[in-house]
Amino acid sequence: MNKRDYYEVLGVSKDASEAEIKSAFRKLAKKYHPDVSKELDAAEKFKEAQEAYAVLSDASKRKQYDQFGHAAFSGGAGAGGAGYGGFSGFDFGDINLDDIFDGMFGGGFSSGFGSFGGRSSRSNRRQKGPDRVIQIDLDFEEAAFGCKKTINLTLNEKCEDCDGEGGHGSKTCDKCHGSGTVTAQQQTLFGAFMTKTTCDKCGGRGTVFDDTCKTCRGTGRVKKNKDIEVTIPAGVDTGNQLRISGKGEAGVNGGPNGDIYLEFYVRKHPIFERDDNDIYLDMPVTITDAVLGAKIDVPTLYGTVKVNIPAGSESNDKLRIKGKGISDVNSGRKGDMFIILNVITPKKLSRDQKKLFESLAKTKLGDSKEFDRIKKYL
Ligand SMILES: [Zn+2]
Ligand SMILES: [Zn+2]
Repeated sequence: MNKRDYYEVLGVSKDASEAEIKSAFRKLAKKYHPDVSKELDAAEKFKEAQEAYAVLSDASKRKQYDQFGHAAFSGGAGAGGAGYGGFSGFDFGDINLDDIFDGMFGGGFSSGFGSFGGRSSRSNRRQKGPDRVIQIDLDFEEAAFGCKKTINLTLNEKCEDCDGEGGHGSKTCDKCHGSGTVTAQQQTLFGAFMTKTTCDKCGGRGTVFDDTCKTCRGTGRVKKNKDIEVTIPAGVDTGNQLRISGKGEAGVNGGPNGDIYLEFYVRKHPIFERDDNDIYLDMPVTITDAVLGAKIDVPTLYGTVKVNIPAGSESNDKLRIKGKGISDVNSGRKGDMFIILNVITPKKLSRDQKKLFESLAKTKLGDSKEFDRIKKYL
């Protein structure tokens, strides 16, 4: 039996680094994994690569291989006579294939010789279609009051022409006799193994069509562009997600559709700021309104309201208007609105205004305990 050099199998040089070896194996495994490869000798190539990787990725095994070649692992067969009997039974279960594939096949397929055929039924398993997450930008008011939106999407949908079957005139696959898998005897260094792989003729379905559907080229699914109307509830905020059940991509083999998740991003408002369900407004007030008190017009999400500013108000005083916030997206309970006063010192005065301030300045505005506290140190 002519056994190919492990370095040659992986297509790397003798002094290849660990990373190069891993990357080379990853490429080959992707190409030849029996669950995905359409090539006839894929299973064989996959095993060859797996075996080469098992040796070359292990520093001590690699060292022995470099020294003695394949004889290092031929056990008691006597080849090379180097006494490496201890290796005859090593298996490849210690390669972490999940690590190699990064979950490429949906994770968790069995590693180790002779066992990976066990997943060959994957391709006729019912599978839910993939979910889709779509970001929706909303104006402040749209989020506060809810709205309707039309979303344009391109999705894989069930092919109508073949009702998602992929073809017409279904009959049992003559290659696998309907099982979806084919069994082959695999001759390896460690003896003969029976391996099961997905039937390449029917792709694991167990049936073939007289007439493959032209619309979907046998996949049972077609890309469709469509508009979806969605009603967005009042009170959503940035980062909230809304699930639209069953409107996502078509499932596989009769599985249910995936879901669509709308994820919201709420644009800033020019004057209102949102904190949970409460709204904050930075409200300028004149120095006289602050001193004398006043009824002023304040904008809210629900229109203008009159608000009493108490005499003697100061900057950063906080006034609450109950119930003028945003409805909670779940309970519907309304938040409040908070007005933060910002007393504005006038910068440009008319002649008359200046006179008034000057006469005011002659009065004893500085007679209060706040000023007394400092006066002691003057
Ligand atoms: Zn079709
Ligand atoms: Zn078949």
